[in-house]
Amino acid sequence: MPNSVTPTHCPYCALQCGMNLTPQRDGGVTVVERPDFPVNRGALCGKGRTAPAVLASGVRLTSPLVRSGGTLVPATWEEALDRIAEGLARTRTEHGPDACGVFGGGGLTNEKAYSLGKFARVVLGTSQIDYNGRFCMSSAAAAGMKAFGLDRGLPFPLEDIPRTGCVILVGSNLAETMPPSLRFFNELKENGGTLVVIDPRRTKTAEQADLHLAPRPGTDLALALGLLHLVVAEGRVDEEYVAERTAGWEDARAAAMAHWPEYVERITGVPVPQLREAVRLFCEPEHAMVLTARGPEQQSKGTDTVGAWINLCLATGRAGRPLSGYGCLTGQGNGQGGREHGQKADQLPGYRKLDDPAARRHVAEVWGVDPDSLPGPGRSAYELLDALGTDIKSLLLMGSNPVVSAPRAAHIEERIKSLDFLAVCDVVLSETAELADVVLPVTQWAEETGTTTNLEGRVLLRRRAISPPEGIRSDLEVMHELAARLGGERGLEKGFPTDAEEVFEELRRASAGGPADYSGITYRRLAEENGVFWPCPTGAGTTEGAGNTQGAGNTEVTEHPGTPRLFLDRFATPDGRARFAPVTHRPAAEEPDDEYPVLLTTGRVVAQYQSGAQTRRVDELNAAAPGPFVELHPRLAARLGAAEGDPVAVVSRRGRAVAPARITTGIRPDTVFMPFHWPGEGRANTLTNPALDPTSRMPEFKACAVRLEAVKA
Ligand code: SF4
Repeated sequence: MPNSVTPTHCPYCALQCGMNLTPQRDGGVTVVERPDFPVNRGALCGKGRTAPAVLASGVRLTSPLVRSGGTLVPATWEEALDRIAEGLARTRTEHGPDACGVFGGGGLTNEKAYSLGKFARVVLGTSQIDYNGRFCMSSAAAAGMKAFGLDRGLPFPLEDIPRTGCVILVGSNLAETMPPSLRFFNELKENGGTLVVIDPRRTKTAEQADLHLAPRPGTDLALALGLLHLVVAEGRVDEEYVAERTAGWEDARAAAMAHWPEYVERITGVPVPQLREAVRLFCEPEHAMVLTARGPEQQSKGTDTVGAWINLCLATGRAGRPLSGYGCLTGQGNGQGGREHGQKADQLPGYRKLDDPAARRHVAEVWGVDPDSLPGPGRSAYELLDALGTDIKSLLLMGSNPVVSAPRAAHIEERIKSLDFLAVCDVVLSETAELADVVLPVTQWAEETGTTTNLEGRVLLRRRAISPPEGIRSDLEVMHELAARLGGERGLEKGFPTDAEEVFEELRRASAGGPADYSGITYRRLAEENGVFWPCPTGAGTTEGAGNTQGAGNTEVTEHPGTPRLFLDRFATPDGRARFAPVTHRPAAEEPDDEYPVLLTTGRVVAQYQSGAQTRRVDELNAAAPGPFVELHPRLAARLGAAEGDPVAVVSRRGRAVAPARITTGIRPDTVFMPFHWPGEGRANTLTNPALDPTSRMPEFKACAVRLEAVKA
């Protein structure tokens, strides 16, 4: 298809920037940003611009690999698929279906995530399926469900941000993680609005802020309670809104009143005058928003922490109103859609609950199976990985690299090595794929069609722009082939089409009537419109925006326009009221002590993405971000006797990592930061604490106790 331009979307983060791809006669692909797509409006970050480099990378897998005599050697597709089917079937026979695990990824398209959930439950009959999106945003999802009765990352489009009055951005370094989004915040400031950033580090995002609060890692919950305390003390509660649209205020108010400002200053290290200034900036404008990201979410109390920020919005009447609200900045490319359609341990398509009998009946009917045959909820991501080699004997892994991205990664690496059988589908030989018994080379974003759902809840069509290299198949083909082999006489492969639109048509029916209702969305609409916001049921809509019309005989049928803005009339709870969370402060699971006196927090850098499986294969990105580092304050560096670039060992109760020192006054003296994109000696997740949030089961990546050691050259 030389020189034909295909409009599509970036393979990486949840912004899902629009881009045009043009295949070249030399086999390459050019990428140009799409000015018509309202999310990135003609901008791309370096990751998006260089994404085609992975398509043609010399380290791309082009043949299935099977382990033979201890090494991975090329094999035919038939041989590799047979080996996987045999491995899973053997485990199922010898140990039962729950001994087969399935682990997915937040980068999988909606169609793949949907099919993977169905594959686990219908073909393998296992409850043991979860995905790496559990590490990304599940605390915000849990808090949103509790408060609003619905979880959609942003309940409004990004284009609302410049028109609000103040945004409090909690634990997000979007200037590095999703750079094109920064322009919405710049426009906010040009319009007279203000930006408050809460982060232990003076990040590139914090540098843009009107006010930067730098709490100790793991204390954002106390910070939010302290701000709510001041809101009450200063008479800034929107009493009418609280009475009409919320429930549970008295308990939340009582909890906040126990967190007076000086107490909060002692916990967080944020001076009281800064707390007062944040409240003033947030409360004085007519409209305001709070946006959270991984900072408050990746904690052993992440659900409560996000709940405390939602409380602040509810008490001040800043939720479910135009240009005001709470939102979560989802991280992974399809982190939102990936959690809506069934690859999460406790969910069925359409954001239905697996333990809801009506939901089971509905989905079972679409799948043509007995509702009683569907397994119940399984383990969460870390718990699933931790059970490998013990309860779970075989694992099918698609689109994830837990050897680098899981907390307590050295332990997880050992668990993976102890499996009876591991099969991995990936585009390159990731650190996890290196441990597999069978590796299948699969298609990438530009080589396949499918939908994703970005952080705004906007469903998008990613289009195939080029043909994959010879010898590569799609994840959908893999599931079809495995279903054929494992289903025997039952013909289960018929339920696993290889055409993405066919899968989406079934997903529409499975999601119909559920919280994340996609039934009114079609590939035709997605091709014509710049995405459609869910919920979008079949038939006429009542929310804002004009629907398209199509003739049907003499009857005009109006398509639902989708729902860009949620909760304007009522919240999605049974009585329509939002719920306050009665939360109180508690420390991180692991606080500094004499042996481990410093806090470690982890995160991302602009030129790498997640475990780096793709971006570490791009020369331009490697030149910009060649390896891990330990960011620390000059006072800490002086105590250690470390100069810029010196190797520093960071030691936690789980292991030891070594990386060069990067010394800056932009971090608290009691805290060090490491990016988590690299394997090996500098692997940040060797150190991180898998303490789980009791509701979301999200690990505490953002705070653990460590000590630093100088490393002799
Ligand atoms: Fe891709 Fe995210 Fe960069 Fe946009 S911001 S180009 S979606 S990585």
